[in-house]
Amino acid sequence: MPAVNTSQVIRGTGLRATKPRILVYGLLRDAGGHRTADEVAGMVADSGRRLPRASIYNVLEDLSRVDLVMRADRGPGSAIYEVADTWHHHFVCRECGRVTDVPCAIGSKPCLDADVPGAVIDEAQIIFRGICASCTDRN
Ligand SMILES: [Zn+2]
Ligand SMILES: [Zn+2]
Repeated sequence: MPAVNTSQVIRGTGLRATKPRILVYGLLRDAGGHRTADEVAGMVADSGRRLPRASIYNVLEDLSRVDLVMRADRGPGSAIYEVADTWHHHFVCRECGRVTDVPCAIGSKPCLDADVPGAVIDEAQIIFRGICASCTDRN
């Protein structure tokens, strides 16, 4: 993994590069994939640092708001967070819950327009649902 100056990345969004933000962003980026806030809390604990659960949620929301972290609502249960370079969508398997990235044809937000009177739409995130390949094989 190329060395990335995490605090510079964070400052580049206009946020202050606080220790919790640097820690959470770095852990999430290094871990890769889609992680729930609980999993992030586990990574923080494993790293030997102490960060209250509420701070972890706040940091994840701060980083999502500036698009450093992508937040996806996969339905009932916890939201998932990831460090992603490209805006994309997700497929969630109804049986195993596995989350798969689905490329976005546009690649930036908002990739869908909708007519909501008076509203300014800045994001459209699609969750595709069904049965993934390995669950289909098992049935
Ligand atoms: Zn599955
Ligand atoms: Zn993803």
